[in-house]
Amino acid sequence: MGQKKIAGVDIGGTSIKVALLSFEGEIVRKTQVPTPVSAGEDGVMAKIVETVDHLLAEEGQSRNELAGIGMGVPGPVDEATGHVYQAVNLGWRDTPLKQKMEQLGGVPVWVDNDANTAALGEMWRGAGQGAKNMVAITLGTGVGGGVIVNGQIVHGVRGVGGEIGHVTIEPTGGPLCNCGRTGCLETYASATAIIREGTGAAAEGKSPRLALLLKQNGSLTAKDVFDAAREGDQVAVQVIDKAAFYLGLGLSHVANILNPGRIVIGGGVAAAGEFLFSRVREHFQRFSFCHAAESCEIVPATLGNDAGVIGAAWLVHQQVE
Ligand SMILES: [Zn+2]
Repeated sequence: MGQKKIAGVDIGGTSIKVALLSFEGEIVRKTQVPTPVSAGEDGVMAKIVETVDHLLAEEGQSRNELAGIGMGVPGPVDEATGHVYQAVNLGWRDTPLKQKMEQLGGVPVWVDNDANTAALGEMWRGAGQGAKNMVAITLGTGVGGGVIVNGQIVHGVRGVGGEIGHVTIEPTGGPLCNCGRTGCLETYASATAIIREGTGAAAEGKSPRLALLLKQNGSLTAKDVFDAAREGDQVAVQVIDKAAFYLGLGLSHVANILNPGRIVIGGGVAAAGEFLFSRVREHFQRFSFCHAAESCEIVPATLGNDAGVIGAAWLVHQQVE
């Protein structure tokens, strides 16, 4: 089995990342295709199998040399049956993904939530290597979370274990979240939140620098706010401090409950580096039970956009090994 390849798939609302990996999780080939959302779940699955075949053909191999396909999906999943409860960005509901993909592809398939596969990827080949108890957070448009206890993802009874982005961090008067509630961590620590706060400050004339960028470009990015903060714009610094405060607070709750050895933070916002991390650590230590804080490192993710496909491949690796 050791010579066989694994296909890792990371399905997003706009693109699907597909990689062919060695059995030990090294990416051999990878590609990215637009998600044919309008073609429905069957159309998306057909596209995935076609893309896997294409990568295999480039290696001069066929599906016979594939140990299986691992998949990360943007929504809650029953990982035992590979049933997707819902994936809003794909328009899927109650999709028997594992069953259909195995019929279509003729190889074993394993499925998990995409934040979980990203966490597994970091545990296997990234910043979480060697950690059996870790938490991975992805700061992007939203805030994704994956919790690993004793080397296993915590799924809970309905696949929503580890949804750290929707922990209520501000019980009254917080911003509206995509989940329909207010005050979720996601509404304070995501790129969307940093852009919202930065844009608000610019519109109110509190930051001439951000106001100028807003006028020139029509909108701000999280990077604009970080760059302004790094260069000493006090309003931008306050925006970043606020995001770091809520993130540190949210992570302290996670650490007090789970006592992870490592918290790995990835996603676009994490690219801000030490400027963000040092602030998050400070707030985290302030709010955590001292033994939980002392035993926990907060580190940047190292796999970038590859974490999802590598973690998806881990699903196959751990089943087949
Ligand atoms: Zn929410």
